[in-house]
Amino acid sequence: MDRQQEFVLRTLEERDIRFVRLWFTDVLGFLKSVAIAPAELEGAFNEGIGFDGSAIEGFARVYESDMVAKPDPTTFQVLPWETLEGGHYSARMFCDLAMPDGSPSWADPRHVLRRQLSRIAEAGFTCYVHPEIEFFLLSSMPEDGSPPEPADNGGYFDQASHARATHFRRHAIETLEAMGISVEFSHHEGAPGQQEIDLRYADAMSMADNVMTFRYVVKEVALTQNVCATFMPKPFTDQPGSGMHTHVSLFEGDQNAFYDPEDPDELSPTGKAFVAGLLTHAREISAVTNQWVNSYKRLGGGGEAPPAVSWGRANRSALVRVPMYSPGKASSRRVEIRSLDSACNPYLAYSVILAAGLKGVTEGYELPPAAEDDIWALSDAERKAAGYVELPQNLGEALGEMERSELLPEALGEHVYDFFLRNKRVEWDSYRREVTPYELRTLLPVV
Ligand code: GLU
Ligand code: MG
Ligand code: MG
Repeated sequence: MDRQQEFVLRTLEERDIRFVRLWFTDVLGFLKSVAIAPAELEGAFNEGIGFDGSAIEGFARVYESDMVAKPDPTTFQVLPWETLEGGHYSARMFCDLAMPDGSPSWADPRHVLRRQLSRIAEAGFTCYVHPEIEFFLLSSMPEDGSPPEPADNGGYFDQASHARATHFRRHAIETLEAMGISVEFSHHEGAPGQQEIDLRYADAMSMADNVMTFRYVVKEVALTQNVCATFMPKPFTDQPGSGMHTHVSLFEGDQNAFYDPEDPDELSPTGKAFVAGLLTHAREISAVTNQWVNSYKRLGGGGEAPPAVSWGRANRSALVRVPMYSPGKASSRRVEIRSLDSACNPYLAYSVILAAGLKGVTEGYELPPAAEDDIWALSDAERKAAGYVELPQNLGEALGEMERSELLPEALGEHVYDFFLRNKRVEWDSYRREVTPYELRTLLPVV
């Protein structure tokens, strides 16, 4: 047993923890959990916990369904809000998934990201990520398709806007911090009920784990405040959606490989080629960074979401931005990708972003000139005339791009790539066939 494993077992005993939840993520980004008693943990470290992989979205076919979850002791955390009767806490660990012969499961999103990170390492880099996570607080959670009601009437940076859940952000942040997830900023976002919490940078794997934990914690804390949280990309037609802007940098040793003090944007040739990779492959990675039918209502719907493939400096209408908050500070040179939404699978989204950027670096892609226009203010025709390439307009178009992609099967592995396409085709087809309230409202009475 290694030292990390010993630490976990000792903590369980010292804190008298009665439940250990083993967490993993399915291909669509839903958190899964199996609880075990502390006495089972030593066995789980050695052999893993067996489960039926075919019952989980995207994991395995029925005839090869035995899978094993192996807890990763470096991810051990006590769940701070959860005291059971008698004051017992429970704890969680993320798992790596394996086949019965011990080989890693191709369907495990953590494994997909691990593989991509080893490609990044082979090229001599380590990668840091930090997300700005937006979401809505609602006064209740309608499940019959009726429109939601925001929990407050606040706007951007408003201090006192709510009669309900006044201390929500403070509770959420205290809980995250107690789980080792550092928060950098938080504020009310532009729409009623909309919040933003930005996490302090971490390596990409820890951050993907953090995003999964974040979504769970935020939902739990919301319930304690009598409100409900949703990460749906665009719950309101006439309000901005919830993005998950993601800041990325590559380091070579302790040097930021994106920093060049001589360049007007302080962006090195490596940084430029990385951005060029993101732009070149933006359309084909879209189905993964924006994976739901609803994601495209945000991207195409104004509200400060990027509509076209472009990069810029202070230009917030661009898809990729090179923020210049602290000029001359090498460690903070990074690029901000603004397409991702808060309902993506963070492991897969980071994998495809890094695959696209790294391809730009290894193949020396050329960065086009920065966008100087306010792209939101241009009509579709003006955008076309100015040479902007649109992001996919809907999930169907994004899947078409993904099907034609050579980068994506390599980045995700064939299993996840095939499953993802099949699953998302079903979603798109069922949406496409549905007669919507919009059609009934605008057409039924007039024709
Ligand atoms: N909510 C906007 C989006 O969907 C982003 C607002 C902002 O710039 O933070 O991307
Ligand atoms: Mg924001
Ligand atoms: Mg931002």
